[in-house]
Amino acid sequence: MLEVKDVELRYGDFIAVHHLNFSIKPGEIFGLLGTNGAGKTTTFRVIMGLLEPTLGEVSYFGEAIGYHNVDEIGYMIEERSLLPKMTVKEYILYIGQLKSMDKPLILERLDYWLKYFDIESYRNKKIKELSKGNQQKVQFLSSLINNPKLLVLDEPFSGLDPINTDLFVKVIRDFQERGTMIVFSSHQLDHVESFCEKVVVLEKGKVIIDGYIKDVKDDFKKMTISIDADVDIDVLKELDGVYLVNKDSDAIRVKVESNEYVQGVFDYVKTCENVMRFEVEQASLSEIFVAKVGGAREQV
Ligand code: ATP
Repeated sequence: MLEVKDVELRYGDFIAVHHLNFSIKPGEIFGLLGTNGAGKTTTFRVIMGLLEPTLGEVSYFGEAIGYHNVDEIGYMIEERSLLPKMTVKEYILYIGQLKSMDKPLILERLDYWLKYFDIESYRNKKIKELSKGNQQKVQFLSSLINNPKLLVLDEPFSGLDPINTDLFVKVIRDFQERGTMIVFSSHQLDHVESFCEKVVVLEKGKVIIDGYIKDVKDDFKKMTISIDADVDIDVLKELDGVYLVNKDSDAIRVKVESNEYVQGVFDYVKTCENVMRFEVEQASLSEIFVAKVGGAREQV
């Protein structure tokens, strides 16, 4: 269990993270989201014990986290190819040894993962000679080499093609099943929505969304209705609770303030011809993110 309790982190006078609280249990995937500069990387460094919080504490299975926990942590940093002149093998040996692993075990796992990610032929190539996507695989592999109990992934999917994204997702899921605590950041909110249970969204170091995704969506209340029918858009715009109507290529999208206004839209659509579709959905995480970040900025 990892618990972040009322953590504040300052760089000099600048407060990069304010009063942050969350917890992750073994086998849980946790999403840490936010716009650029919101404080995600800083938070990662704090939860891994690399930066000391100026206030609050981070506990790892009941004890204060620190550098001594490094052997059980895997960290995929956002910047790629930190040591570009090393070969893949040298780099992974270096990372594995930093985590107190024996050389034969590192090499055994290296070969397993190189095969898994289909990059066996790059074993003795310098990292700088690899494509960006393959460098990313090496970076990911370096975070897995010690079979971590806590896996921290900063933007693991950025720049990956869909096939490799699926491969990464499968590995993350396998680690989840083994009980690893996983915390990751991503700007691709559809990924977050598809496999995280809990999220924290930071904006300028402050928490603006926090909790289980299901509860976050329930609390947001706003709904989207997709309609395929011969409707009059001007009539839809005037209905109670409707705040936006868009004509998309596949449907007309009507946004209502809450589910209590869905019936009014349905009653109108029933009077129209050629009704092929009437579908009600909760707002996506991406919509909630945009709305809340916008709201937080207006309050400044
Ligand atoms: P991005 O998505 O762009 O990677 P982030 O959410 O990871 O951003 P951080 O890197 O944690 O954001 O930075 C949070 C804030 O702290 C930013 O305003 C940044 O300029 C500032 N900051 C980060 N590192 C330092 C540092 N070493 N000294 C001073 N300020 C810093």
